[in-house]
Amino acid sequence: MEVVLQNLTKKFRSRDRKNPQDVIAVNDFNFKIPDGKLIGLLGPSGCGKSTTLNLISGLIKPTSGRILFGEDDVTDLPPENRGIGLVFQNYALYPHLTVKQNILFPLQNLKGKDKLSKPEMLEKAVAAAKLVQIDELMDRKPGELSGGQQQRVAIARALVKMPRVLLLDEPLSNLDARLRLQTREEIRRIQRETKITTIFVTHDQEEAMSISDMIVVMKEGVVQQIGKPQEVYDSPVNLFVAKFLGTPPINVFEGQVRDNQLFIGEDAVLDVAGVENQEVYVGIRPEGFLLKEDGPFCCSLSGVEVMGRDISVVSTNKASLNPTVRSIVGTENKINIEAASVRFELKPAKVFLFHKKTEERIDFEVRV
Ligand code: ADP
Ligand code: MG
Repeated sequence: MEVVLQNLTKKFRSRDRKNPQDVIAVNDFNFKIPDGKLIGLLGPSGCGKSTTLNLISGLIKPTSGRILFGEDDVTDLPPENRGIGLVFQNYALYPHLTVKQNILFPLQNLKGKDKLSKPEMLEKAVAAAKLVQIDELMDRKPGELSGGQQQRVAIARALVKMPRVLLLDEPLSNLDARLRLQTREEIRRIQRETKITTIFVTHDQEEAMSISDMIVVMKEGVVQQIGKPQEVYDSPVNLFVAKFLGTPPINVFEGQVRDNQLFIGEDAVLDVAGVENQEVYVGIRPEGFLLKEDGPFCCSLSGVEVMGRDISVVSTNKASLNPTVRSIVGTENKINIEAASVRFELKPAKVFLFHKKTEERIDFEVRV
């Protein structure tokens, strides 16, 4: 099911008398979510992710704009008539009901032509439980399950009616690190098997990047960028997006462009043809540094962290906006940890320039 958001806007009345301005939780959101895809809705806390999801589910009404499921304008439909499945962070299972009864619950309220016989309901419940691999646990109560198992029950319950759209709001946030990893792979598998259009909300960029067909990055109610995870990572439209994606995070510096050269401090670190002379922010991905004895970019060496697969070089630089500069290099590199400084050459594709005022990306030509 394709989901179309047209100029979707939600304003909330301020409850704060001293600050009576409306909160624009979602500001003119336009997006056509392709059928059968998994979309990661990503951004810091308070940026409007849950509000967007609640608008799609019908739990709240938009201030303006429309929502379409395929040809079907659902903007004025109540949630129960939209054909959605919902999963929240805190499972929201009925504690006094068994797993089976929890999963059956949405089917028991069907009326009229949708009404199912008992055996039909049971068949669907078992199928949903199998899909999330909890069919062995049908007679337990939620209190007798781990967090990961409870969340699987919640997913089974959301899937049992075979919704047109599956909406997940930070579904993994209550799980420990290992379970989070496992459950996100499960969600991906289930989504691939069922091909249900799915919107997955998270503040965790790694989570969104790893399982989404496309990500939507939001800030303060406004969509910043939409694209495939790798595309957004490789060409962020602005400094916010560049900083939000990637672990370790991108290194940001104050820089200047003079005569087609990028300067960080006194070092001319890169040729950047086609950029007017100006002050800029420079973003360099941790994997954008090459250790080189006569490299143009000099930093003060603080330490080296060996991480098995690669080495993290920690250094400082006066122009850095982060307390330390983190670069990731291969284990074949030999670093003298006694040295006071370390020199790098930069990989142009991993270096981004941003306008000092608008913070939008400035493109440059790479000269070889
Ligand atoms: P997220 O899920 O990205 O953390 P939300 O969508 O929950 O963000 O909230 C977006 C903004 O809208 C926040 O500033 C939040 O305080 C505000 N907001 C959310 N719900 C309400 C509400 N019912 N009344 C007033 N303000 C709200
Ligand atoms: Mg939220």
